[in-house]
Amino acid sequence: MHEANVPVREKLLVYFLYIAISCLFTSGLNIIHAEYLLDIPLKPEAFIAPLVAGVFFGYLLARIKILHETMSHMAYTDPLTHIYNRLHFGHFLDSEIDRVERYGNTFSIIFFDIDNFKEINDEYGHLVGDEILEEITQVIRKANRSADIFARYGGEEFIIMTPATGIDGARQHAERLRIDIEKHEFLNVGTLSCSFGVTEYKRGEDNVTSLIKRADSALYKAKMQGKNRVEAA
Ligand code: GH3
Ligand code: MG
Ligand code: MG
Repeated sequence: MHEANVPVREKLLVYFLYIAISCLFTSGLNIIHAEYLLDIPLKPEAFIAPLVAGVFFGYLLARIKILHETMSHMAYTDPLTHIYNRLHFGHFLDSEIDRVERYGNTFSIIFFDIDNFKEINDEYGHLVGDEILEEITQVIRKANRSADIFARYGGEEFIIMTPATGIDGARQHAERLRIDIEKHEFLNVGTLSCSFGVTEYKRGEDNVTSLIKRADSALYKAKMQGKNRVEAA
């Protein structure tokens, strides 16, 4: 997210709050310093300098906060599709593994890849390819549950973590997604398909690498068996 994409209302609120707090702080310091420490009664014009300083520091702090939020957002999301990137997905995966190892329950991973995307790019151009990546993201987002963690894993590969879902539930979910994509009419290119690999976390046995590797080999199997299908491992 570019800074220009931060909603104006949100930005104005941050500026207002930071400037107001900063002005209260500088005026308060002024009162404590003059009236309590030096015992000098303050005239209204004595507040001009502290208020100017308050506006200046409040504005600076608000700028830093907005830039910090923008940069965190950029570090954790994919610029094209605006979903999480692989790095941030890894953070969610680590904490889900931690949770399942400590408290039990399970979760699954759905790994999917657009079929014959290179041909689509070659035929319609890279920009149309980019639009497809964005459109697929919308289709999947609509079908996912709010607890699902959805990320762009790499070029035309996506990954979903489905908390509290075993292999059967994940397979059904992937099958629904597969059908949703298959039925969707994409702008410029019409229809296309994706292949899916699904796997469930094995408590006490798995780690990030073994889990992703298994999902990847299930996806590979789906590709080998003719694409546009869901395979579990
Ligand atoms: P398969 O069905 O086996 O997955 O074949 P494929 O053609 O989809 O896979 P392949 O790995 O041969 O090609 C992937 C293509 O994805 C090649 C690459 O140019 C394209 N790609 C990767 N990232 C992007 C992107 O951000 N935008 C666009 N437009 N294309 C991308
Ligand atoms: Mg592909
Ligand atoms: Mg690929």
